[in-house]
Amino acid sequence: MESALQQLEDIEQEALKGIADAEDAESLDRVRVEFLGKKGRLTRVLRGLAAVPAQDRPQIGQRVNEAKERLARAVDARKSAIREREREARLSGPQLDISLPGFGQPCGAIHVLSRTMAEICDILGGFGFCIAEGPDIEDEYHNFEALNIPEDHPARDMQDTFFVHGGRVLRTHTSPVQIRVMESLQPPLQIIARGSVYRHDDDVTHSPMFHQVEGLMVDEGVTFSHLKGVLTAFLQRIFERELPVRFRPSYFPFTEPSAEVDIGCVMCDGSGKADGVCRICKGSGWLEILGCGMVDPAVFAHVGYDSEKYTGFAFGLGVERIAMLKHRIGDIRLFYGSDLRFLKQF
Ligand SMILES: [Zn+2]
Repeated sequence: MESALQQLEDIEQEALKGIADAEDAESLDRVRVEFLGKKGRLTRVLRGLAAVPAQDRPQIGQRVNEAKERLARAVDARKSAIREREREARLSGPQLDISLPGFGQPCGAIHVLSRTMAEICDILGGFGFCIAEGPDIEDEYHNFEALNIPEDHPARDMQDTFFVHGGRVLRTHTSPVQIRVMESLQPPLQIIARGSVYRHDDDVTHSPMFHQVEGLMVDEGVTFSHLKGVLTAFLQRIFERELPVRFRPSYFPFTEPSAEVDIGCVMCDGSGKADGVCRICKGSGWLEILGCGMVDPAVFAHVGYDSEKYTGFAFGLGVERIAMLKHRIGDIRLFYGSDLRFLKQF
């Protein structure tokens, strides 16, 4: 009995020393398994009870269980201490300097062309025009024929077209959208079509891809004065000033009569002079800004509208042209160059 209790005492002391000496979680766990595990030394003492006289067994069993409890508590306490020490080591290690300024993400902005396009659509939307959509790849019928531009018409040469296989073209203007809308809706209608158009052209004022906004209004009793009123109000809004507007007779296959619209030069305020002869208007004091006219009855015939009953007007403008004049940009290619020094100015 005495020797068994002494053996238990020795084992416990040895275990406590092992626990106290454990420097990290791993060695602590080794000690735990050695003494408290299923095949650990304390467990073996319990198994050895068979050899102990029966009257001593309860006492020894109780002592083993007490020792197990004390050791388990010691292991837990040591585990917390080790954890705490590791945490302190981490905190006192090399410092993370959170006072250094971060690397900010540069803030993007809406492209000047998209903004101009949105401004144009906003103003026209305020006049009651709704946005209509159409495909960039068009068939020749919608791009030319339905707009009164038959195959042998010289206008097909005027617009240097990109042809796609299968009798299709990259639309040379947004006007085919008008046709698609009129094919599916009856008057009254008031729409704008906006988007990319494509022509075989490339210099400081022309790009093979550029953007147009086109307006169409059809109803009973629509006249040229409605067209004039809408465009004058629109141009004064978009250029944010009371600039003079004039209409010159012109020719487009899909409108009759047709007009070219000029505004007073935004650079020289119509004087024609700015440090000598004004470069923008070349001294004339006027700038060509858009084309327009009353919808040709031949176009109405293609979509089945009664041209005795309905009249309409249409106009088309280049978004790049408006943006260049509004922001005094000299080269159209800057819009597509992705040069941040240019783009950040807006
Ligand atoms: Zn000028």
